[in-house]
This record gives sequence, C-alpha cells and structure tokens, in this order.
Amino acid sequence: MTNDLPSYAVEISGLIKTYRGGKQALKAVDLQIPRGCIFGLLGPNGAGKSTLINILAGLVVKTGGMAKIWGHDVVESSRMARAAIGVVPQELNLDAFFTPRELLELQAGLYGVPQRERRTDELLAAVGLTDKADAYARTLSGGMRRRLMVAKAMVHKPPVLVLDEPTAGVDVELRKSLWDYVRKLNKDGVTVLLTTHYLEEAQELCDRIAIINHGEIVANDTTENLLRRIDNKKMTITLDNDLAVLPDNLRQQGWEQCAPHRLCVAYRPSQVAAGSLLRAVQMNGLTILDLVTEETDLEDIFLQLTRRSDFPKAS
Ligand code: ADP
Ligand code: MG
Repeated sequence: MTNDLPSYAVEISGLIKTYRGGKQALKAVDLQIPRGCIFGLLGPNGAGKSTLINILAGLVVKTGGMAKIWGHDVVESSRMARAAIGVVPQELNLDAFFTPRELLELQAGLYGVPQRERRTDELLAAVGLTDKADAYARTLSGGMRRRLMVAKAMVHKPPVLVLDEPTAGVDVELRKSLWDYVRKLNKDGVTVLLTTHYLEEAQELCDRIAIINHGEIVANDTTENLLRRIDNKKMTITLDNDLAVLPDNLRQQGWEQCAPHRLCVAYRPSQVAAGSLLRAVQMNGLTILDLVTEETDLEDIFLQLTRRSDFPKAS
C-alpha cells in the first residue's frame, strides 16, 4: 500500500443500479468528489440519491459500473472501502435499548478500534450529547438520534462522511447545529457527501453540487457557478403616480402592470441591461420612486433541471 492520497475522495463511473422488478434507479452515473470538499447531491424524491449512497456504503449491490472510496473499489476492496467511509443512513435505525455511550463503544468494537484510540466522550461532546451519554436511545428526540448517528459514523475516523438527508425532520435550530458540526469536521479534513432535497441546505453548506433526476446527473458544478448560471431576474418599480394604460413599447419589453402604480419585468441579465429597461420607463415620462430586484436562487435552476424528465444532460 502506498501513502499517496487519492485524487478523489469518491470516484464513480458508469454506475448502474437496476432493482429487481426492473426499476432503473441509476443510469450510468459518473461522479467525482474532490478530496476535502462538502459535496451536495441534490434531487427530488425517487431520484436515486439513497441508492447511490447505499452502494458506497456496501448496503446495495451495484448492477454495473465502478465506485471507489478513497481509491478503494467498493467490491474488489470492500474492507478498505468500508473503513474509509462513515455513513449516516436516511432511516434512523438505532437500537433503542442501548445508551449513546454503549452504541458508540459497540460501533468502535465492530470497526476494531482499540480501547486507547476510542474517543467516545469527545464524539458525544462534539454532537452535544454529553448529558445524554447514559440515557436510553429511545428517550432521545429525533434531532438527538440524528446527531448520535453522525457520531456513530465517525467512530473509526473515516476520511469520508456520507449523510443521507441529514436534516429531514430536524427542526431549524438543530439543523444549524448539525451544519456547524459538519463544517467543523470538514475543516479538520473530512470530505463530506450529503444528499438533500432542501435547496437551502445545499446552497448554504456545499462547495459543489450535483443534481440528480431519474437516475441521471443533470448538473455538476461549484455552487457559485451553478447559481451564476441562473440567467433570470425580476425587477419591480414603483411610480410616483398611477398609470392608466401601460404604453405599448414597455409592454413589448416585457413590462407588466402589477398594481396601479407598480410595474414589474422578468428579464435575462445576459441579454438585457437593467438600465435600458429603466430608461424606457423614463422616456415615457414616468418617474421611478423605488426599485426592487429579485435574485433567483437554486430553487429556480433545480426546477428548470428537474421539471421535465427529458431534460438534456448537462455537458
Ligand atoms: P431517493 O433517495 O433520491 O429518494 P432512492 O434511491 O431511494 O431515491 O430510489 C430511487 C428509485 O429506486 C425509486 O424509484 C425507488 O422507488 C426505487 N427503489 C429504491 N429502493 C428500491 C428497492 N429496494 N427495490 C425496488 N426499487 C427501489
Ligand atoms: Mg433517499
């Protein structure tokens, strides 16, 4: 074995999963997750996110293609691959009759972590469960269980942490504290892959985002680029007096009257300068009192990309 770091934390090519019964959950997916990033896999329900995660976790057997974790093939080097990954599954399957401390110790045992290298207390503290260390898991709230699952996934210090819908059903405050912990792990060098159908979560947390729909990756870019790609803006202006009729030339530009003294327009910044839209309004002798522009966000691009099943693959 060499000590060379792999170029990608996770490398997937041509990955196919066809479930018994014929459902094609993954259709030749290619995906490379750079070391050190927080990567978001975003997609609507049924898109194939959990299938992909579960193949990485060794819980689902792929039909074709290749998946590597930290350079280890999930089938040919399954033990090495599993040692390199910590997975928080979508379903919370905690044994209700163990305490958080016992669960972490058990997990450490399963992964062969020697006593002196265990860090149960440290992990419990990191996820805010110190005072619940010896309470039965069944008495923990949903958010606490989720955090305990994260601690459990990190017991063997894997370089890659995978979270499948980590904040589904978790309230806003806990969501933020989970995000903080994920950020902290990432700062300490852990590569994070998370799936979500909350756009806000991906936008807030992830360096890169891939969008999956019907088992196909339809976009894969830095969060910044993805947001920049959205060529859609809205502008609303307030006039100093009511307007009886909207002049034709303004209507042709796309302006609409949304209230007696208010006009709005949707435009493509790459095609039209906001200045020319405003100039046209003033040329009609109208006085602009106020102006509001609305940025579109990931939600819009997500809808664009997932609305139609025949959407062409991003190149
Ligand atoms: P996501 O996590 O994005 O919601 P999944 O990976 O769970 O999507 O599911 C992808 C598709 O595969 C869905 O159509 C789902 O119904 C189907 N599927 C998932 N698990 C199984 C299974 N064990 N057997 C048959 N079909 C499945
Ligand atoms: Mg899922």
